[in-house]
Amino acid sequence: MADIIKLLPDHVANQIAAGEVVQRPASVVKELLENAIDAGATNIKLIVKDGGKALIQVVDNGIGMSETDARLSFERHATSKISCAEDLFNLNTKGFRGEALASIAAIAHVDVQTKPENAELGSFLKIEGSKITAQDVAATPKGTSIAVKNLFFNIPARRNFLKSNQVELRHITDEFQRVALVHFDVAFQFYNNGSELFNLPKENFRQRIVHVFGAKMNERLVPVEEETEVVKVSGFICKPEFARKSRGEQFFFANGRFIKSPYLHHAIGAAFEGLIKSEMQPGYFLFLNVDPKAIDINIHPTKTEVKFDDENTLYAILRSTIKHSLGQFNVVPSLDFEH
Ligand code: ADP
Ligand code: MG
Repeated sequence: MADIIKLLPDHVANQIAAGEVVQRPASVVKELLENAIDAGATNIKLIVKDGGKALIQVVDNGIGMSETDARLSFERHATSKISCAEDLFNLNTKGFRGEALASIAAIAHVDVQTKPENAELGSFLKIEGSKITAQDVAATPKGTSIAVKNLFFNIPARRNFLKSNQVELRHITDEFQRVALVHFDVAFQFYNNGSELFNLPKENFRQRIVHVFGAKMNERLVPVEEETEVVKVSGFICKPEFARKSRGEQFFFANGRFIKSPYLHHAIGAAFEGLIKSEMQPGYFLFLNVDPKAIDINIHPTKTEVKFDDENTLYAILRSTIKHSLGQFNVVPSLDFEH
């Protein structure tokens, strides 16, 4: 029998990988914002058009890229953030897979402008479906601008699967808020179809929460602070009387990244037991800092699911810490329980 196995060409492999990293415009927003953060930006601008279907652009004032790095950044497994397997267990950056830009470029039209601080001129690159189609020098400020147009132009099934502009914008806003909340020391602007949705100055965490969710938050927040050998917990919970029926303002940030954890969410619910009705959801904005070696964020490409070494201990600490904060700030049941 003749040999039938062949290696997939790079552009096909990239398109397959892209399906995992990029589900919708909001996935691109997340990757670009995180790259800007990793580049040390202090100001980040997000510009979208038509729910991200026409344009997603992130402009940062971070370290920028040399011309060679700019070309390389769109190759698969090209990353400046890790160099060996050990690094995976000691991550200080959002990215590390070196897959995002390669994936995005496989399924969209991408324009890049970038300049490192000390370079006189920057570079401009155009990449369409994994191929560099134009390149030039560019007079551009320090930092990087990446514009992603016509997402899924070469995967009609995916493009048709996208929801309305309004729904896609909602997903983008969710991603934006997650990144903006955790990086309160970075200034952000966010524009949709030319109108400004957010303009956030560098500020503290409380101010950022109020800026993102409105002045009503001012009276709702109760500070949380605890440090043990296993974890440092900090941030805010919302007073019980502001609990809501629907899930809404609930944020865990583990070592600086937004995570989803039904298990730890349950711990918060347990701390509020007796203070809110069982069908109500308490609001929270909590940072959990653990030893990077005690957390595995390499289990899913989008990195919102993570694995903690000692989840049971974390659960117990979280519950008692929240209970303590509720008690300390004289938060007492204000609801009339119906029986
Ligand atoms: P990862 O973030 O996992 O390293 P990406 O595909 O997102 O992979 O990016 C590849 C590389 O491109 C990064 O490691 C970084 O060196 C460079 N890069 C991407 N975005 C930026 C940016 N906004 N500023 C500076 N460098 C960037
Ligand atoms: Mg990245």
